[in-house]
Amino acid sequence: MLTAHTKIGTKVCLGYEYKKETLLYLRNKEDFFCPVCGEQVTLKLGDRRIFHFAHKRGSTCRDFYENESIYHMEGKRQLFQWLVNQKISAELEFYDKEIQQRPDIMFLYNGKRYALEYQCSTIPEKIFIKRTKTYFQNGYIPIWIIGSNHIKQKMRNVLSFSNFHFFFLRKTSDGSFYIPSYCPEKRLFHLVGSIISYSVKNAFVQSSNFEIENISVRELLDPKIVNQISVDHWSTEIEKFNFYWSLHPGPRENSFLHEVYNQNLNLFLLPPEIGLPVRHSIFIETSPTIWQTYLYIDVLSKKNPKELISLKEIEINFKKRINRKEIILRNFPQFYEVNHFIAVLDYLLLLVKLGILSRKGETLFEIQRNLTKSLTNRKKEENKLFFKQKYHHILSKI
Ligand SMILES: [Zn+2]
Repeated sequence: MLTAHTKIGTKVCLGYEYKKETLLYLRNKEDFFCPVCGEQVTLKLGDRRIFHFAHKRGSTCRDFYENESIYHMEGKRQLFQWLVNQKISAELEFYDKEIQQRPDIMFLYNGKRYALEYQCSTIPEKIFIKRTKTYFQNGYIPIWIIGSNHIKQKMRNVLSFSNFHFFFLRKTSDGSFYIPSYCPEKRLFHLVGSIISYSVKNAFVQSSNFEIENISVRELLDPKIVNQISVDHWSTEIEKFNFYWSLHPGPRENSFLHEVYNQNLNLFLLPPEIGLPVRHSIFIETSPTIWQTYLYIDVLSKKNPKELISLKEIEINFKKRINRKEIILRNFPQFYEVNHFIAVLDYLLLLVKLGILSRKGETLFEIQRNLTKSLTNRKKEENKLFFKQKYHHILSKI
C-alpha cells in the first residue's frame, strides 16, 4: 500500500514524488501505521520495487492477504498523479470508516464523489457486486478500471472475455458501452468499445489507446465511442463459431439443435437476417444466432406479410425462453438497472431497416416480407453475399 499514518496521525502518501533521501530520513524518525487496521507497517525503500508500506509478517489485515502486486501499486500511483495533475481533489487509498471500504482513489469531480478501483486481480463476483452497491448507496459513483494485463486479444478486433470483464462495463452519455483499462508499464489507457459478443467468451471490439498525458478525466468518464463492426469478419467468425459448437454441443445447444431440426430448419442454411450484430446484444450471453433464431421460430416464422406483431407477444416469448434457460442474460454491477429486452428491440429496428418489418406505432410492427430462405448451400452463399452487399452500410453501424 501507498499510504500510512505517523504516530500523531499525519498521513504519508507515496503517491507524491518523494526523494529517497527524504523517505530514508522520515523512516529513521517515524513509525508508520496502517489506516485500516492500525497495525504498525514498514516503509520499504528498495531500489527495484516501488516504494511502499508493508504489514509485518503474520498480520491479519486484509491488505496483507490481498498481496498487492507492483503492477497494481504502480498503476494506482500513476492514476492518482494523473488526477492531481488535472487539479482534481483526490485521495489515494482513502479509507471510508463508515462503509469500511477503501477505494484505490477517491476523487471529487463536477460536484460528484467518485470511488476509483483499479483492479489487476480477479475478485469473486459477490465481492465486486457488494463493493459497487455499497459505493452507490453511500453517495459514491464507482469507476472500476481493469488492469490491461487482463485484456486478452484473440485476433484483430476480437477479444476474449470472461464474466469478470463484463463487470467493468460502463455506459457513455450517448448510450455506447466501453470497458476502461490501464497499463502502468506503457502508461496507456486502453478503452474497449463497440463490444459485440458472438459467444460466451468472444466479442468483437473497437479499441482506442490514449497515453495518460493525453486524456482527461472527462474523456475517461464519457469517451466518444465509434460503434462499428466489420460485417465480413463478423459473418466469418459467427459461422466458424456455429460450426464449432454444433460439433460439440452442450445440453443447451443440443436442445436448440433439436428445435431447429423439428422446425424443418438447418443451422447452416439459416436466413442471412439471423445472427446479426446489434449494440445491446452484449446484454445477452447466448449467441445472437441462437436468440435470433428463437425469435424467428416463436414469432416471425408464424406470420405472413401484412400481419401485425406486437412487442408484448415478442416479449412474452423472450421471457419464456429465459425462464427455460434457453436464453441466458448478462448482468452488470455498475448499471443501476438493465433492460435486457432492448437487445431484441435493437434487432427489430434493424429488421425495419432491412425491410422485413415496418413500424406501426410504439408497440406494433407489420411484416413486410419473409426472411430469405435457402434450400441449398450454394443458394445460401449467393443470398448471403447479396445480403451483405446490399445492406453493408446498415449492418456495419452498430
Ligand atoms: Zn492493515
